[in-house]
Amino acid sequence: MSTLLITHPSFVDHDTGFGHPERPDRMRAIDRVLGHELFSPLKRQQAPLRDDVEEQIVRVHPKSHLERIRSVSQSFTTNTYAHVDGDTVMSKGTWEAALRSVGGGLDAVDAVMTDKVDNAFCQVRPPGHHAEKERAMGFCFFSNTAIAAHYARARFGAERLAVIDFDVHHGNGTQDVFWSDKDMFYGSTHQMPLFPGTGALSETGVGNIWNAPLKEGDDGAIFREAYTQRILDPLMNFAPDLVIVSAGFDAHKHDPLGGLRLVEADFMWATTKLVEIATKTANGRIVSMLEGGYNLEALAKSVGVHVRTLMAAAS
Ligand SMILES: [Zn+2]
Repeated sequence: MSTLLITHPSFVDHDTGFGHPERPDRMRAIDRVLGHELFSPLKRQQAPLRDDVEEQIVRVHPKSHLERIRSVSQSFTTNTYAHVDGDTVMSKGTWEAALRSVGGGLDAVDAVMTDKVDNAFCQVRPPGHHAEKERAMGFCFFSNTAIAAHYARARFGAERLAVIDFDVHHGNGTQDVFWSDKDMFYGSTHQMPLFPGTGALSETGVGNIWNAPLKEGDDGAIFREAYTQRILDPLMNFAPDLVIVSAGFDAHKHDPLGGLRLVEADFMWATTKLVEIATKTANGRIVSMLEGGYNLEALAKSVGVHVRTLMAAAS
């Protein structure tokens, strides 16, 4: 079988303004790497504007949140921006990109749950893991991975869903959505203290939230130990039906927003370990969705090793 890559040209139209780290060039840098012939076996699909996308969003966010983002999106003329929080910027292209970003995750769930592919990577923006139920924040509007998890439950009857998040920032939004749902597992390695300030060991939900805070300067060896004990062992016990990944690459040592010291080999290792568990409990089903990563070269190379690891698992 194969690995599916989902993306769309409209993701570069989400204009966040001069100097913003979450910028369209992130997509172009990844395109250059994934355009290499090594990636020619990928199945490729465009992230859709699905008829049911709003229905799926409101499984996770109240309708008032969706309507608030929609109403800001309808206020634009050309080349104007609106800040929905200190660093979360909307422009004319944001609404379509945000809906296609969610839609990419939904199509990826369809593909893996119907065994059309083994696993999928969604090269999408805006990212999602900081979007709480009732508010956009941290460059995020909708909780892409949590919406994908709820869709997998509602549409396919998946019983145990896991989101594993190795972005350098804690996914406060995913945690917020999953907080009291024992059949939704959230596991995160992240730097602390750092934005958004959540992610302490003591935040455990109903025993379904597994945080592994790391400190500035921690390297791959410390990451691997924390990831094994705090994320992988509990995840194996949980036995997910589907593994969803919040794949942020800003824990890379060259990233300007984070202070961890991971390298490409660490992302390959982390992906391999998720593949091993998914193979044992979820028939190999993995849906990975891009979150952060702001050094373009480090981002593109790290996405490259992540996707190649998914491809190796599928071959
Ligand atoms: Zn991040």
